[in-house]
Amino acid sequence: MAEREQQHVRVAVIGSGFGGLGAAVRLRRQGITDFVVLERAGSVGGTWRDNSYPGCACDVPSHLYSFSFAPNPEWPRNFSGQEHIRAYLERVTDTFGLRPHLRFNAEVRGLRWSSSALHWEIETASGALTADVVVSATGPLSDPKLPDVPGLDTFPGKVFHSARWDHDYDLRGKRVAMIGTGASAIQIVPAIQPEVSRLTLFQRTPPWVLPRADRRISAAEKWLHTKVPATRAARRGLLWGIRELQVSAFTKRPNELGLIEFLAKSHLRKAIKDPAMRAALTPDYRIGCKRILLSNTYYPALARPNVDLVPAGLKEVRGATLVAADGSETEADAIVFGTGFHVTDMPIAQRVTGVNGTTLAEEWKDGMAALRGASAAGFPNFLTLIGPNTGLGNSSMILMIEAQLNYMADFLRQLDVLGGKIALNARQSAVDEWTRKIQRRMERTVWNTGGCDSWYLDANGRNTTAWPGTTAEFRKVTRQVDLAEYEVLRPPGAAVGASDGARAEVAV
Ligand code: NAP
Repeated sequence: MAEREQQHVRVAVIGSGFGGLGAAVRLRRQGITDFVVLERAGSVGGTWRDNSYPGCACDVPSHLYSFSFAPNPEWPRNFSGQEHIRAYLERVTDTFGLRPHLRFNAEVRGLRWSSSALHWEIETASGALTADVVVSATGPLSDPKLPDVPGLDTFPGKVFHSARWDHDYDLRGKRVAMIGTGASAIQIVPAIQPEVSRLTLFQRTPPWVLPRADRRISAAEKWLHTKVPATRAARRGLLWGIRELQVSAFTKRPNELGLIEFLAKSHLRKAIKDPAMRAALTPDYRIGCKRILLSNTYYPALARPNVDLVPAGLKEVRGATLVAADGSETEADAIVFGTGFHVTDMPIAQRVTGVNGTTLAEEWKDGMAALRGASAAGFPNFLTLIGPNTGLGNSSMILMIEAQLNYMADFLRQLDVLGGKIALNARQSAVDEWTRKIQRRMERTVWNTGGCDSWYLDANGRNTTAWPGTTAEFRKVTRQVDLAEYEVLRPPGAAVGASDGARAEVAV
């Protein structure tokens, strides 16, 4: 039998979370249908599919945490739960006709740039293909991180991560150890506390927690948002505008955050009466340095008699005994790790090999860097969504994703207009200049000066994750590709195009 010809597509998108689905919608809207979305799991949703832990919800209001091109007048709450966000993404998939492009169970195992063919060779769990352009939308919150705890393999009970919740395991009546006090853990704690016999929370660093202004969205509001779309847009605009005004306190004037610290402390005082516990729960760093958490139920749950707070990290496991960094010992039947994700060391980076034969992980060993959050030097026609320095501390990541989709759309348009078989490779000097400017601005931010360690910072202490500006500014700087920042690659022996280096202006 003749060997089947390998599939070639114009664009391969990796991941089908908000980023990957948004890219797919944008490609179709641009008239590009020759693309696939490679998804390692069996359904869409990304982090909103994988994080199904009890209590999981988004702490950015749903009317802002959704695509501008796919408004949903039916959001049930201000801060909708995971199941509603996941259902929304399934609906987006159907509404925009994305199903034919999806390739499930197609985990990307390797991506290699071919300098002769000027395309990407892609190995997936369900076969190989090639693509002119790759859009990596794997997201920073996709690969769970487990701390390296000696003796964990000796633990006889159940162990799982917040993003890989085992719904077949019944926590009722069990002694559960919760490790971590990030955004995931503080939602899990109040959700499981009433069920378990004993809950021991290992807190390495106390988070700042503010009240959560959540409420049901009334039938009247939903009706109004359906019948008068301008009300929906106004609601979104207001939510966006308030957050834009907050940005300078995080990025330029962290001292202004003192008032918010006062509010958070009184929130803590109201719920926790025991002075020793309150002291253990009081952060010693500036609010905003780590992600500010929102909850009305976390502190009250900690005050319940079946909860113990261990104000130290988990250091070691000896059989069923968990040993904390302060030497205290706890017996447990199950350990739940709410210990976050591989953010600054994304596993996908180890699988991408660029023009020099080195992987993105090797190129990023001293810190992630990509032009306008998207293009790393030496990785032509490869765009990362939610790439380096595109994260937000206080607003909706969907705004950043949509800005990056504008950039992706213009990138593809430039390739079209330049014509022929070509590729765009970010110039190292342009990446360095972009990174230098960002890092200079970073020096004043609360993330760098607030006196904490967080996942915003990499192993070298550099902030390669957060965007030190407003979402409006990011949108502006990603509106168009500046061809001067790229080198145009042509197949070996091809003549240099007359238009190389000049922006192609075309009607959108
Ligand atoms: P995270 O913010 O990275 O928190 C990880 C937690 O694990 C930290 O408290 C960390 O302590 C702790 N930890 C690590 N090793 C430990 C050890 N050996 N012993 C004890 N504690 C240990 O992870 P996450 O909570 O999964 O959240 C990640 C991100 O996902 C969030 O920042 C947010 O962007 C997103 N998220 C959003 C929502 C939402 O919208 N509501 C919900 C969940 C997640 P240290 O602080 O000392 O490092």
